[in-house]
Amino acid sequence: MKIIDAHLHFCPQSPYFDEIAARAGHQNSTAHLEECFRSLGIAGGIVMGNRGLALEEHPYPDFLRYCVGVEADCLDPALPPAGMQAACDRIEAHLKRPDCAGIKLYPGYSPVSINDRRYEPVYELAAAYQKPVAVHMGQTAGSRAFLKYSHPLTMDEAAVLHPRVSFVMCHFGNPWLMDAAAVIEKNENVCADLSGLLEGNPDIPLLLRQQEGYVSALKTWIAYTDRYDRLMFGTDWPLANYQGYLQFTRAVIPQEHWDDVFWKTAARVYGLSL
Ligand SMILES: [Zn+2]
Repeated sequence: MKIIDAHLHFCPQSPYFDEIAARAGHQNSTAHLEECFRSLGIAGGIVMGNRGLALEEHPYPDFLRYCVGVEADCLDPALPPAGMQAACDRIEAHLKRPDCAGIKLYPGYSPVSINDRRYEPVYELAAAYQKPVAVHMGQTAGSRAFLKYSHPLTMDEAAVLHPRVSFVMCHFGNPWLMDAAAVIEKNENVCADLSGLLEGNPDIPLLLRQQEGYVSALKTWIAYTDRYDRLMFGTDWPLANYQGYLQFTRAVIPQEHWDDVFWKTAARVYGLSL
């Protein structure tokens, strides 16, 4: 079976990422990541962009593609129209690149809803280039963010009003699993990735026992959606250990749906030919 990691971060030479990689039993380097992919049979990955809009800030090895991260500030309506247009032109330049697989938004980390009018040009571009919009949804790292903007229910309105845009709800909206399931089940244009549910390098059998109630809820709401062809394996690497994440995902997803969840959905949504 092929595997695609539909959600990872790639920031070599970042002390912050070096440290969290070490905590997860990894090294934050291209060579180490490539070796993980080779040894675990991971065919490709989608980097969630953490950098700016400049094209030169997005060089990635050939086994990765990326979503360009768009900060709410660069589309602030208070900007002069020329500044706004420049941001849109830069986003479009990314979407024209074959290695750019989509757009990433970070509500919660920015205090702006994805239903704010400033994002209309982003949705128009996503529809025109037929590339998905991945959105951070659910719990945030650190206490400075605003959870009301990252609640999965906010994606319902965006999905309804933009039926030509394919949305990816990152982290299955964790821990708002029931709300996430309702949005995914209802909206054909919403997929979800299962990244960010683990951190570090936990003992998976022990975690499955200790967090039995949570794991049961996760399985329940995934099964409720019954849309495995709209679910994707993802890790948030280097936040979590690859082997552990594979083990955890296999424990949560029924085996008959592994092809969809581990690679087919990501290949379709992010336009990867493997
Ligand atoms: Zn992430």
